[in-house]
Amino acid sequence: MPELPEVETVAADLRPHLVGRTITACDLRFPTIVRHPEPERFAALLTGRRIEAVTRRGKYLLHELDGPGDPTLLVVHLGMTGQWRSVPAGTPEPDHLHAVLTLDDGRQLRYRDTRRFGRLLLGTEAELVAARKLPRLGPEPLDPAFTAADLYRRLHVRRAPLKALLLDQVVVAGVGNIYADESCFRARLRPDRPASSLSRRAVGRLHGALAELLAEAIANRGSSVDSYRDAWGEMGGEQELLQVYGRGGEPCVRCGRPLAVVRLAGRTTVFCRRCQR
Ligand SMILES: [Zn+2]
Repeated sequence: MPELPEVETVAADLRPHLVGRTITACDLRFPTIVRHPEPERFAALLTGRRIEAVTRRGKYLLHELDGPGDPTLLVVHLGMTGQWRSVPAGTPEPDHLHAVLTLDDGRQLRYRDTRRFGRLLLGTEAELVAARKLPRLGPEPLDPAFTAADLYRRLHVRRAPLKALLLDQVVVAGVGNIYADESCFRARLRPDRPASSLSRRAVGRLHGALAELLAEAIANRGSSVDSYRDAWGEMGGEQELLQVYGRGGEPCVRCGRPLAVVRLAGRTTVFCRRCQR
């Protein structure tokens, strides 16, 4: 599932190619992928607009469009298996293609999603939040203004398991199953510990581990553990460096004992019973 580093990779790759381009056509093959507004209105509003900026917030890809007032955003959420790709028009079409945007430079942006948990949205941020299509996202873990003290304030009042809170996009934006398990391992903290039991020092370790891990994953162009591919259809490299995710039962890289697998916050969770406390 694409998380912060994967979405950041796609945004950074597409930015120089998309900024200044105009969307000349919007062809929806499976209109249900559009969650706001109605698909016909979505297509009509998008056609003829120029892309002014490409950014990321949490796991959301944001394309700012031209026009007066608050920026209108084309929002792409990749869900579990979504792919947002730039290809020359005329490239043979894969299956599970949901939406095709044609640009004025002869290229297309294509949204493909085998499992269809992703979504496309269009509107101002305020409009999408009011329509409950966008959550009020928590801080960005790589924002220098987001400190260990901020993370501590968000965690120490909660009794839920640490991992459940790392997955909660309101607590911190952009972390999913991969980077939640990996950051707990790096910080040597059990993912099932009540968040309120963490000391300031432990949260400091977690804050550092999370920032270091996400920066490393961005540098490695994300983790292709499932169907994630970048905007050009290529795999990332971070999956080679993951220490616990997907490795349940295998020996811990630190102590050699088999890694435990439990179900936590509805997600498969892997950790080391000896190295994580
Ligand atoms: Zn271990």
